[in-house]
Amino acid sequence: MGLVNFYITLFIKLTMKIITLHCDYIRFKPLKKAFKGAEELDSKAQLEKEVREPLVVLVAIEKGDNDQTVSELVEAVKKTAKEVKALNIVLYPYAHLSSNLAPPSTALEYLVEAENILTKFFKVTRAPFGHYKEFELKVKGHPLSELSKEFRGKVEEVKGEHKVLDLENYDPSKLLREISKTKLDTSKLKENDHRILAQRLDLFSFNEVAPGQVFWHDSGLHIFNKLKYFVSKILKKYDYQIIDTPQILDGKLFKVSGHWAHYRDNMFLTKYEDRDFGVKPMNCPGAMLVYKTRPRAYRELPLRFAEFGTDHRKELSGVLAGLFRVIKMTQDDAHIFCTKEQIASEISNLLEMIKLIYKDTFGFDYSFELSTRPEKFMGDKKDWDDAEKILESVLKKSKAKYKINKGDGAFYGPKIDLHIKDSLGRSWQCSTIQLDMQMPKRFELAYTGEDGKEHMPFVIHRAILGSIERFIGVLIEHLNGNLPLWLSPRQVKVISFTDRNKKVAEKLVSEIKAEIPELRIDLDNRSDTVQAKIRDAELLKVNYILVVGDKEEKSKTLAVRARGEKPKFGIKQSKFIEDLKKEIAI
Ligand SMILES: [Zn+2]
Repeated sequence: MGLVNFYITLFIKLTMKIITLHCDYIRFKPLKKAFKGAEELDSKAQLEKEVREPLVVLVAIEKGDNDQTVSELVEAVKKTAKEVKALNIVLYPYAHLSSNLAPPSTALEYLVEAENILTKFFKVTRAPFGHYKEFELKVKGHPLSELSKEFRGKVEEVKGEHKVLDLENYDPSKLLREISKTKLDTSKLKENDHRILAQRLDLFSFNEVAPGQVFWHDSGLHIFNKLKYFVSKILKKYDYQIIDTPQILDGKLFKVSGHWAHYRDNMFLTKYEDRDFGVKPMNCPGAMLVYKTRPRAYRELPLRFAEFGTDHRKELSGVLAGLFRVIKMTQDDAHIFCTKEQIASEISNLLEMIKLIYKDTFGFDYSFELSTRPEKFMGDKKDWDDAEKILESVLKKSKAKYKINKGDGAFYGPKIDLHIKDSLGRSWQCSTIQLDMQMPKRFELAYTGEDGKEHMPFVIHRAILGSIERFIGVLIEHLNGNLPLWLSPRQVKVISFTDRNKKVAEKLVSEIKAEIPELRIDLDNRSDTVQAKIRDAELLKVNYILVVGDKEEKSKTLAVRARGEKPKFGIKQSKFIEDLKKEIAI
């Protein structure tokens, strides 16, 4: 099945939600009725159907939808179909988009209404309503291939007395109870799901007041910041400059970058002093402006701007899934401005960085996919051919596994995506390297060449970890929460064997802390059994547990229990600290 990326959502009631997917094909077949009273199908309608080159419209009809939302749906489909030049429409009822579905009879009525109107303009195929279906589709790889929208029914105007909004005309404690209700539903999650581990390890939480946005707790934020620090060190090695650009920017800028036309539906929009603003969904426009702050010369290239950019993208609330799919994400993003001759060595550096991070540090297996010129592309064919050749030759040279996705590149340039395999055998797409031959044009980027003339640089967009949130989710599940010492939020725990050993245990903590101030070490001096205390520390995935008993007091040595291993006795304190210092360094 083609990889379906769902974008956008709002959780306002009284809406109809759709996702449009421009596909090479879709195949579907009804399997059985999902409920009594589902649409009856004749023998023909029960067969598998295939539609080629369709615009697939996944749609959920919700409570409160009406003729107005249907006509908005039709207009939106017409607009998108025109933009992607699609002649075939597949209306595909897709209940998973909503948790507020309209009653089946109403839903079917509106679906048929939409079908009837659309039939005037397109060849329309409607998938059966109320049936479990299997389907397979292949989504095209251009920027408009996946879009989603929601339509809100017009709220009836309240006639009569003008109501003054009283800001305190609500019950804060009732609202608070609603807000505090958010609880992780673990019923459908696997034991090692990062959301379950996060709750157990007190890493982060979510709340309905901020869909798809993480509330980082101290231990989780430690992991987040350590990863940033780890990446920053690598950035320095490869001569990056680290920048930071604003979150909320004038719509004008996104018009220049093209996001306004192609991505606005996925952006959070706002107004400021009557000007249209957008919360950035990507960091590129800001980076382009930093490049343009002064004239650039060939000597400065390649110029590498890295940014731990926080982006917001609307997603359907139904597809938000812990850290795997969020609305607010931080990318270890970068934009590299270079000449054509420099592309190869830049890409080669990036493949090196990927190996360093994914294979050498975290032990992931991986492979690459090179996506080449799509049918609809911008720019010069020769530039595309050259760029693709360069990318492939670098991949070949790196000896990495790769395959070619013909025609799957972005409209502005070819790209390389990284696919990693985790310990559970699942595949994830993480890093992406995209060569861009359009944004430099839109932003009229230039540098003075050796010949004294103006030239246009190439831009490489790249993220290595991708979304740091998502990476943490993948990593936590890959390691089942057992993070390496340098990344771990709970590195050492000292446990007193009996109440007699409390003092010495306390002293041990402060001595180790004095030697390694940044160490995350704590003390369990509770008057509990030592077994219970060790078990608690193990559940918290502490890297090293030190138990202080009479024997240790007398011999002035440590009993060290490395996570998952048997305890070792008689370890000298100084030796333990030296080893810890080495292991903690990155
Ligand atoms: Zn970018």
